[in-house]
Amino acid sequence: MTDTAAGQVSALGRVGRLPELLEVEATGEGVEAGIAYWLVDDSGRWLFTAAEIARHAGWPAHETAKRVRALVTARDSTSACPSCGALTEVTSRSDLTARRSRYSYAPPACGDCRRRAAEEIAEQRRAAEAEEARRRNELAADVAEHFALRDTEPLHVTEQDLRHVIALLALLRRADHDLVRTLPLAEWPASEPYAPISLDAAELVRQLWRCGLLRVHPASPPDAFGYTPDGELGIFVEKTSFVVTGSGPTGPRNATALRALYAAIAEPWTEDWRAAAADLTSELLLADALDYLDLQMSEHGFELKVGERTRLAVARALEHFSLGSVYNIVNRAARNSAAYYQRSGVPKQQAANSVVSRVDGDTDRALAEKWDLKPYRRDWRLPMSVLLSTFFVTALSVGDVMAAKPEELAAAIAAK
Ligand SMILES: [Zn+2]
Repeated sequence: MTDTAAGQVSALGRVGRLPELLEVEATGEGVEAGIAYWLVDDSGRWLFTAAEIARHAGWPAHETAKRVRALVTARDSTSACPSCGALTEVTSRSDLTARRSRYSYAPPACGDCRRRAAEEIAEQRRAAEAEEARRRNELAADVAEHFALRDTEPLHVTEQDLRHVIALLALLRRADHDLVRTLPLAEWPASEPYAPISLDAAELVRQLWRCGLLRVHPASPPDAFGYTPDGELGIFVEKTSFVVTGSGPTGPRNATALRALYAAIAEPWTEDWRAAAADLTSELLLADALDYLDLQMSEHGFELKVGERTRLAVARALEHFSLGSVYNIVNRAARNSAAYYQRSGVPKQQAANSVVSRVDGDTDRALAEKWDLKPYRRDWRLPMSVLLSTFFVTALSVGDVMAAKPEELAAAIAAK
């Protein structure tokens, strides 16, 4: 091997040159064959085939690349590490070709730089995890202190408002097995919801808590707690487990309260409770019927924003007909709105809004023409909530809530 004109190298009887920007370091016996491996001709093609080099050097053909590597270290400066500038070893010609096609614009960082970057990321993650654990512990300590279960006043059921009594009973009767704490609203199964979707259940439970009937159970799921922007410890009502006011261990405490609630609703009611029962009837039936309206509308691909006009129309129907018959009216109104949309080509929202006038109009016609409106059964997609069954079935002893006419419900209240 001898250097000839600038950049030119002769090896194994031919003259070539190294590919541009490839640096080689060669040492050892028989290095000429190793250099020859990397030489290209004027048009950039490899000067020798691997087989020719193996034959010259007396190597087994399949070991050419390996033997060359032992003699020559080649580094490609077009694929220098963008962070530290280090050049990594090129292992073979095909490696060089691959680098120059793949990495012509953005060579990857070298192994050391990648390791360092990975360590930095891991370090940041460890720090973030430690910080998160510290925050969790701090929150847990705050919760344990702030919501420690203390003995509080016993529950005086008959002094409470009927709406709260029913809401509390519905919540406690589906508490866990040993009645240790209530099920967070977010965990009630869809097959047996706490309240109709249209009713603000979180607000109802929040009222029970605010007026002292419920205490936060400190062993609620950790995500039930958090800090306000002012740094005050607070709860997310939907995720919180509660225990009823009273003293002693929570299981027996809740059990005592549950017995007292059942007893109180079975006793004759006060005038206040009977008046409240009429309001609660309207509130619960309206929420349930609005859930059904929403279900029917979405079934026909409509989106209905429930406003005051909708609430009034459905509430008026409920003043005259059983819940099941109002389902009948709602079902027909939604179907007719869908047909109207198909037939007339009016905008979808206009067709959706027309459902309210249909409920209103059908209520009028059903009354004037004395329609015999068949009460619908419940839709399997809309199971009766525990709040409704607690009030109508348990408290008012109304067997078939869907078929009960308004005057029957009024008579059930009057009989309490
Ligand atoms: Zn590097």
